[in-house]
Amino acid sequence: MRCKAPNTQSHEPRAIQTAELEVLQPEPPAWSDNDKPQEECGVLGLWSPEPLPVADLLQLGLFALQHRGQEAAGICVSNGKDLVIEKDLGLVTQVFDEGRMQRLRIPGANLGIGHTRYSTTGSNLRFNAQPLNVRSSKGILAIAHNGNFVNALQIRQELLEHGAVFQTTNDTEVMINLIARYARLNLVEATARAMRELAGGFSVVLMDRHTVLALRDGNGVRPLVIGRLPGGGWVFASEPPALTLMGAEFVRDVRPGELVWIETDRQPLSSSEEPGRKTAHGELRSLQVLEPRPTPCAFEWIYFARADAQLEGIGTHESRIRMGERLAQEAPAQADVVVPVPDSGIGAAIGYSRASGIPFDFGLHKNPYAGRTFIQPTQEMRDLKVKLKLAATPAVRGKRIVLVDDSIVRGTTSGRIVQLLRDAGATEVHVRISSPPIKFPCYYGIDTAARKELVAATHLVEQICALIGADSLAFLSEPGVMEAIGRPVCLACFNGRYPAGQPAEEVRKEALEQA
Ligand code: SF4
Repeated sequence: MRCKAPNTQSHEPRAIQTAELEVLQPEPPAWSDNDKPQEECGVLGLWSPEPLPVADLLQLGLFALQHRGQEAAGICVSNGKDLVIEKDLGLVTQVFDEGRMQRLRIPGANLGIGHTRYSTTGSNLRFNAQPLNVRSSKGILAIAHNGNFVNALQIRQELLEHGAVFQTTNDTEVMINLIARYARLNLVEATARAMRELAGGFSVVLMDRHTVLALRDGNGVRPLVIGRLPGGGWVFASEPPALTLMGAEFVRDVRPGELVWIETDRQPLSSSEEPGRKTAHGELRSLQVLEPRPTPCAFEWIYFARADAQLEGIGTHESRIRMGERLAQEAPAQADVVVPVPDSGIGAAIGYSRASGIPFDFGLHKNPYAGRTFIQPTQEMRDLKVKLKLAATPAVRGKRIVLVDDSIVRGTTSGRIVQLLRDAGATEVHVRISSPPIKFPCYYGIDTAARKELVAATHLVEQICALIGADSLAFLSEPGVMEAIGRPVCLACFNGRYPAGQPAEEVRKEALEQA
């Protein structure tokens, strides 16, 4: 018996013929080894009053942010005189070989920024790797960015009309050109001005040879935290685990709409301020540039951020457990064992097991060495792709399984995992997802796939259930997510309500579609 989906969601009822159910959504690109939303980037910044092994510390921090982007990595360091950037396509371990690290270890270095990248805007090309840098009236600036500007295209067009030259296809360059354009303003003022002009969900670190700055958009969509080094230095990072690895102590989150900075030689805050007035060396300074309207990304707690991360004071692992508990209340199942899809479903599966009383077990073994697989898109090879990564354990034989995962994007991988469990002797497979159905694309730096590729945008829950061959399927509700996280969050990819705006061209496209 297949698919008696407990319908916990209200969906736009679109009649779909049975024949259409045979058509699975398009495969992810051949390089993609999972059917998950992909985080775009991780960012890091460091400033110290004394010389430090800045490049080595940033490399350590980037290891802790590798999960936020695996396609490119880069580091920029300065000693107040020289500024060196090394970046390339690849994982942190691949990019920063001994040769590159030697070039980054400049004498007297005391500040730098770092980046790990997964490309959504701009393609996966070497010149799109970050940090990006420009020469300007303010000297050389370097920038690393997580998220997206929804008005990047319009601003790029305006800058082009004013003679700006772009070297990359990603929208990070828009911000750095915007800052460089305000020649009469100092770096802090120019950055604040750029923040006011840009819309969307973004966290940014940037530097010149003396100053490191960090900022978040007014909704605080993408995370950014502040840490303190024992010798009085400061660290900015997308997630707290990077601070821990760099030996820094967590201080606080950067507030939505806030610009913070530290400088070696203090610049006046505004052009009217007395030039050269000194404040304490290494003071963390702050400017609330935009009115805060906090709606951080729900997916940071559902899936992206590391299980040992705390964002806005809320632990991701604990939230995932609460999501699983709530899921068990909303969508109970008669089953013998709760099995997580490793690693993304582990927290929610623990919660589901606790709330339902059904024992938890690892029914799937994940090969930690499978890494990224470059596989041709034939049916046989697609099946092999899942088998390379996952294998069913004897814990599932003869059992009714509750299979818990965090999300379904295209639905392609879920069906193969259900089949894997059946082949290993599972008698029933009830799939439970610890987030609502993803029906809308993300414009704030997460690759959720285009709307037409999202299986939940065009299929009802019971139709997805039939596609993946499960006995039942249920998703956590939006209130369930909010309650588990315990604060207002962005839920735009579930409900289409974008708290930080949408790209104008997308709004136009939607209006045309509705007309
Ligand atoms: Fe996160 Fe979804 Fe909002 Fe994007 S749309 S920021 S993925 S909750």
